[in-house]
Amino acid sequence: MAACIFCRIAAGELGTKFLHADADVLAFADLQPQAPVHVLVIPRKHLVSLAQSSGQDDALLGHVLATARSVAQQLGVDTSGYRVVLNTGSDGGQSVHHLHAHLLAGRPLGWPPG
Ligand code: 5GP
Ligand code: ZN
Repeated sequence: MAACIFCRIAAGELGTKFLHADADVLAFADLQPQAPVHVLVIPRKHLVSLAQSSGQDDALLGHVLATARSVAQQLGVDTSGYRVVLNTGSDGGQSVHHLHAHLLAGRPLGWPPG
């Protein structure tokens, strides 16, 4: 059994409902939503973070971003707007060490982040 919670989700061990699933990328609702729409988009491959990815992962990273765009369309927030965030490393506030993009929408989002 994988120790990484997102690898476990990707393996289907937690019965997670996926908003998007393909051979390489998954999208599912965040457990503690910070906005009316809060979706996580992850590669199935265990990449620790954006900082610890490499050029070999560029197509996969593009796929993660394109999936965020597609899920935003699917959820009808592409016109109102949204934010895609990759918290990276300690100062970036990353708490789960399996690369993930947050898709946040459904309310005006403040800037700068805390
Ligand atoms: P980070 O702080 O690493 O950028 O974001 C991690 C996110 O993963 C947090 O928003 C947190 O709520 C979410 N999260 C942590 N564990 C789980 C889980 O088991 N299931 C889901 N759906 N989200 C999780
Ligand atoms: Zn993982």
